Amino acid sequence: MNVPTAPLPAAHSGDVDWARVRADFPVLTREVHGKPLIYLDSANTGQKPASVIEAVDDFYRRHNANVSRAVHALGTEATEAYEGARAKLAKFLNVRADQLVLCSGTTFAINLVAYSWALPRLGPGDAIVLTRMEHHANIVPWQLVAQRTGATIKVAELDDRGDLDLDRLYALLTPEVKLLAVTHVSNVLGTVNPVREICREARRRGIVTVVDGSQAAPHRPLDIAAVGCDFYALTGHKMSGPTGTGVLWARSEHLQAMPPFIGGGEMIKEVRFDGTVFNDPPHKFEAGTPNIAGFVGLGVAVDYLSTLGMERIEAREQELLAHATAMLSKVEGLRIFGAPKEKAAVISFLVEGAHAHDLATLLDLEGVAIRSGHHCAHPLMQHFGVPATCRASFAYYNTFEEIDAFVASIGKVRALLG
Ligand code: PLP
Repeated sequence: MNVPTAPLPAAHSGDVDWARVRADFPVLTREVHGKPLIYLDSANTGQKPASVIEAVDDFYRRHNANVSRAVHALGTEATEAYEGARAKLAKFLNVRADQLVLCSGTTFAINLVAYSWALPRLGPGDAIVLTRMEHHANIVPWQLVAQRTGATIKVAELDDRGDLDLDRLYALLTPEVKLLAVTHVSNVLGTVNPVREICREARRRGIVTVVDGSQAAPHRPLDIAAVGCDFYALTGHKMSGPTGTGVLWARSEHLQAMPPFIGGGEMIKEVRFDGTVFNDPPHKFEAGTPNIAGFVGLGVAVDYLSTLGMERIEAREQELLAHATAMLSKVEGLRIFGAPKEKAAVISFLVEGAHAHDLATLLDLEGVAIRSGHHCAHPLMQHFGVPATCRASFAYYNTFEEIDAFVASIGKVRALLG
């Protein structure tokens, strides 16, 4: 069992030299279309500090071997580095390492729960509750399960601010509901859901909970043990780590009871034609050669975030969010979507007279990278009655000057759109 992370001393972003932090990110020094890059798309994927890039490079240069197979030195080093990353993640998330299934990302993690936990358990008459603000990765796997099992899906709606309507959500939690899947933080509105309270209410009713932590883990201190859920999914590439890395945390009793999702090497103890014995969790769910270098990089990313301190990162991003909100609110005809009670550093918006894609394309010519589109959240777009929004998302390596330049660029490109 890992020792829970000691609480950090009260922190504020002023403790940190953020210009030096920014200098750790090589990509942020480049130009795009002859303009300095202003990267405001961290909700899509986060940029990587040099230490993460170097760790991946070093792994391939000096240690490359497969894990858990070879007795030679490189094999041992690779296995230690890979399992070391699992241990770092466990400490960072305040859970046990043997409860962490390493996988390719949130999408895989949620599908693992869908196929391995839900598919064998649900049937006609059962129900799954989702929320209006889920990413497609936390909708489509449940639709596939519902189609195959005959279970139904119920949707928890939002209030005018873009918060979950909790009374209506709890009213949905009737006896036929077996599973509730909810995002910790919305990737479109930035809404921070009270997942502790929601999981407590679900648990009281015997409902299993799946929390999508993709947008929480990179931006705020996270103590999965305290959330009180059954499953927690996250993705490494939004946490300053490499792409193709992610984690499913699950209560041990679930991991013990669940059948494997993918079969192959590494996930077995013994293979016989008269009956194969599976490995213990979490290895039971990790068939085949994993993304070893990626997890080595993610381990270093977790070191990097821990050294900065998630409290400081959160405080810094809240300052950037407040500044961006104030600046954007002054732009005539600009509509910000959602004003939730607690919000992460994500702003979805539209500008009167400008299509989201046109605005994003012209901003790109100014060096500003934002995302436009449905953000893999069609049901949320349907709620607002729009096909797409622009989304600016901020990370601790952004600056106030970048936000000013971004807002100035909106004025400039808008004039072009006439
Ligand atoms: N859930 C949320 C809230 C997300 O923002 C994302 C990524 O954008 C995902 C799930 C899917 O993550 P991945 O594509 O890394 O599996």
